[in-house]
Amino acid sequence: MTLFDLKGKTALVTGGNGGIGLGMAKGLAAAGAKVAIAGRDKSKNAAALKTLPDAVAVEADLKDEKACRAMVEEAAKRLGRLDILVNNAGTNIRKRPEEYSLEEWKLVLDTNLTSAFVAAQAAYPHMKRAGGGKIVNIGSMMSLFGASFVAPYGASKGGIVQLTRALACAWAKDNIQVNAVLPGWIDTALTRKARQDIAGLHERVLARTPAGRWGEPEDLSGIAVFLCSRASDFVTGTAIPVDGGYSSLG
Ligand code: NDP
Repeated sequence: MTLFDLKGKTALVTGGNGGIGLGMAKGLAAAGAKVAIAGRDKSKNAAALKTLPDAVAVEADLKDEKACRAMVEEAAKRLGRLDILVNNAGTNIRKRPEEYSLEEWKLVLDTNLTSAFVAAQAAYPHMKRAGGGKIVNIGSMMSLFGASFVAPYGASKGGIVQLTRALACAWAKDNIQVNAVLPGWIDTALTRKARQDIAGLHERVLARTPAGRWGEPEDLSGIAVFLCSRASDFVTGTAIPVDGGYSSLG
């Protein structure tokens, strides 16, 4: 299917060394893209490369603006060009709003939202020069809903949707499509910790998800290929849930 063919394209997936990022990176690689993954942890990067033949890894802490810009330049250099950016790296700190320090607030916002803006800004000249590109930002059900223990996370993920719309409007004429993906509850390191911390979470998610199961990282492979391929050339500024129906249940 040439519509979904990514041969000759290159992709940088932040947080691509595990969980949802690795699921998306695998989809992009299977469709033919040459992939770079980025994360802080050297050993996680090395382990992920074993499952992604031909991929390269960039070590970077995306809380830091300079490191974030350097990551994009290094990826573009090692891949030869940059057609696709998936802003997936993310973290969470669960507390009641009145308990967060400003440092914790900034850590979550810098990791989840500011890094996506900075990486997109750094990727823009590469994509413009190439005549177009694709940016996929990872939101969450917390882009749509509220919860007591997610003030900075929810703010960052709500922000991701609005950032997506703003970039989509600004860069449409450059043939750069910018979309967000809103995963439901996916079985990853992030949510394994949440399940340890929050009694009954596992069962509540099962009961609330029409598909009747938790998602797997590979459930995000298909949307990544769609949003990064020619198939989505007239799709921009959207926020697409991939959630087994979670956000549709009233
Ligand atoms: P994981 O914890 O499995 O993966 C997080 C990834 O982000 C890792 O690759 C990690 O790599 C990277 N990362 C975290 N902080 C930084 C940083 N400062 N600099 C560089 N890389 C960083 O979580 P998920 O796969 O679950 O999450 C991926 C994205 O999906 C996040 O944005 C999350 O908010 C979102 N999401 C997840 C859902 C779920 O149910 N799992 C639901 C909705 C959204 P390293 O540790 O090497 O730095």
